[in-house]
Amino acid sequence: MRVIERIEDLRAACDLERAAGRSIGLVPTMGYFHSGHRSLIRNAREGTDFVVVTVFVNPTQFGPDEDLDAYPRDIAGDLAAATEECADILFMPSVSEMYPLGPPETTVVVSALTERLCGRARPHHFDGVTTVVTKLFNIVGPCSAYFGHKDFQQLAVVRWMARDLNLPVEVIGCSLIRERDGLAMSSRNAYLSSEERAAAPALFASLFEATEAVRGGERDSAAVEKLVTDAVAENAFLDIEYVEVCDSLTLQRLDKIDGEVVIAAAATAGRARLIDNVVVRVDGLSFEVDLGIRLGSDSIE
Ligand code: AMP
Repeated sequence: MRVIERIEDLRAACDLERAAGRSIGLVPTMGYFHSGHRSLIRNAREGTDFVVVTVFVNPTQFGPDEDLDAYPRDIAGDLAAATEECADILFMPSVSEMYPLGPPETTVVVSALTERLCGRARPHHFDGVTTVVTKLFNIVGPCSAYFGHKDFQQLAVVRWMARDLNLPVEVIGCSLIRERDGLAMSSRNAYLSSEERAAAPALFASLFEATEAVRGGERDSAAVEKLVTDAVAENAFLDIEYVEVCDSLTLQRLDKIDGEVVIAAAATAGRARLIDNVVVRVDGLSFEVDLGIRLGSDSIE
């Protein structure tokens, strides 16, 4: 695996691969790899000939009071994990390499979708994401880019951007990977104290309860949202930010559960902001649920 820090070197390496007829898979990340990131790299490895993984803690997607300086980093661990997962390139640019003239004047903004859910508490967060992802698409020229269902809104926003702008990239959503106790894996889980860590799986447990209610015939979104809010409220370490039943493509809130819907939630536990979601598909009497994959199940280890 080659480690690259300069944009021109990454562009040259990717140009060569494309000229040789090889397909490129891109996995954009902020590093501090866990099994969620690894599964994205594995998907890229299976789906494309040449895998580019990027690690860049992108300042433009952090708000002024957010955790940019505290964001966990582990360059040696990321190098080891990307090597083990057989990535071809690990791109680790500096901030000045990505933004030599400071924050960019030109940005990519996806409207409506980014104002909902996490966008309410994090204004301009998604503008930072879509702008840096567009830069990476333009440098790498991937045929496929891999994003996790964990950040469901991010995946929906990037898909929308690619469609609106006719970007020649297939945006591939990968399963949400969970710890054994159900907590969605996240680099930010490193912020949790031991009490908060013990409490954190309650977010997923409440979403699971919600899917069981839907399985049992509940179709009223407000009732499902209340169920999650009440269950989380029982836990002193968790503070709910939002729970919403949404259309999985437009992220519009739905009054009734019908078709493919996502039940998305965010909560804070101390310094950590936890996000999680489950997807349910309801069609008449048929019911399907996607809860992600737990560590320890065959598909992940
Ligand atoms: P991050 O480094 O947190 O910006 O995440 C980089 C990519 O990894 C994003 O596409 C995330 O959705 C994905 N990712 C993060 N955590 C998980 C997880 N638990 N399961 C699946 N994908 C994840």
